[in-house]
Amino acid sequence: MTRNIELEELLFSYAAGHLSQEEAVVVATHLALCPESRKRLADFEVLQAFLADDGADEPVLPSEQLADVLCVLDEPVAPVAPEKSGAEVEDNRIPKPLREYLDKSLENLAWRFKFPGVREYALGDRRSSKKISLLRIEENASIPSHTHQGSELTLVLSGGFTDSRDHFGRGDVCIADTTVDHRPVADPGEPCFCLAVTDGSVRLTGPYGRIFDKITGR
Ligand code: ZN
Repeated sequence: MTRNIELEELLFSYAAGHLSQEEAVVVATHLALCPESRKRLADFEVLQAFLADDGADEPVLPSEQLADVLCVLDEPVAPVAPEKSGAEVEDNRIPKPLREYLDKSLENLAWRFKFPGVREYALGDRRSSKKISLLRIEENASIPSHTHQGSELTLVLSGGFTDSRDHFGRGDVCIADTTVDHRPVADPGEPCFCLAVTDGSVRLTGPYGRIFDKITGR
């Protein structure tokens, strides 16, 4: 995955405490897997403290200023020791921040059919406007082409997938919104397990979307 401004903005919002609980779980899990983002977060926390001391009511930088800050902060990252887990579930693919939500290994969860080759395990409060779930995408299977009515964060826990923009492997976060129409395809060789949060509904596009629109008269 290529690091992008959307990921930096996400980390900055996390440092500022502006994310929903569901989004924060995704970011915390990503941080457990990504030393570079942990370094970034430490920088952002210093910035947040500085902005708070400076009396700013709303310690968030606009995107253009954030881009300037990121250039200054763009230094090599020191290696970080692998995280030790103290959790009950014996599954090394599940980073510590996610373990308190799961009492079984990934294979043993009560997966439900979502699309051919794709199964889902819902987490969190179903009444929340943000939907958080785990996805299991079988090797070479795809999530049908779709776009989003809100934001979508998808963190890869195991395996990987490719969409029209990039390849995402373990620890990478795929960030999508209303401007993105994509069809994630899992890598060959193993299932891809992901943690996803969506805000607002997803709208099918492509062949499935045309059939859906025809049936529903949209
Ligand atoms: Zn999507």
